[in-house]
Amino acid sequence: MKLTVVGYWGAYPGPGGASSGYLVENVEGGESLLLDCGSGVFSKLYEYTDLNRINNVVLSHYHADHVADIGCLQYAAKVQMNLGERTEPVYIYGHTLSNCFEDLTYEDAAVGIPFEGGVPLVIGPFTLNFKSAPHPVPSFALRIESAGKSLGYTGDTGWDDDLVEFFKGVDLLLCESSLYNKFKGSVEGHLTAGEAGILARKAGAGELILTHLPHSGDHRDMVTEASIEYSGKVSLAYTGLTWPVRE
Ligand SMILES: [Zn+2]
Ligand SMILES: [Zn+2]
Repeated sequence: MKLTVVGYWGAYPGPGGASSGYLVENVEGGESLLLDCGSGVFSKLYEYTDLNRINNVVLSHYHADHVADIGCLQYAAKVQMNLGERTEPVYIYGHTLSNCFEDLTYEDAAVGIPFEGGVPLVIGPFTLNFKSAPHPVPSFALRIESAGKSLGYTGDTGWDDDLVEFFKGVDLLLCESSLYNKFKGSVEGHLTAGEAGILARKAGAGELILTHLPHSGDHRDMVTEASIEYSGKVSLAYTGLTWPVRE
């Protein structure tokens, strides 16, 4: 299992960047997953994969910084089908706790597929589990297992003790870090860098990547704040970051 960060900004993309988007690939080829598809993700994807290989998109929730480029992805699939370059639709996995689910299906080019908390979903070599997370709109954390490796992704979430159990023992925790510690509690449904560190420690995560980063301050301070709580490796997400790190 290989992760590539396509976009990491919270709320909206920074200059030339993208908000949430993460490519998860099977190292032996075959199926891949795109986790979230925020603003700017679509154009950045060209740098890391062939768009015709994007057959599965999993959405944590329907806030714009996680779904803004879904419409473009649907159009691209349609155009690719018209050109004979694609035969299968794009499968877009989302929760059904909002009417937004209905927008995931687009003609014959994209098919919305529901997921729910506590019910495992198998996509090719990946097994996914979902857990609802505290956020102003319904949002899901997810955990992916493949070939003996595990990756946890928080999506957008506030603190929830149950996340500790959900992410128990993951090899990598890709954790939202929307707030510096001094802003703890100031924005509902988001974590501080320190809380990301606490979650990584309590879950026994092998490694921590901070993502969904804010548009203020010096992000390196977030690494410091997380590292006070967690003694493992802490990295800042950036476009093009891959995990495991290539030697
Ligand atoms: Zn967000
Ligand atoms: Zn959100």
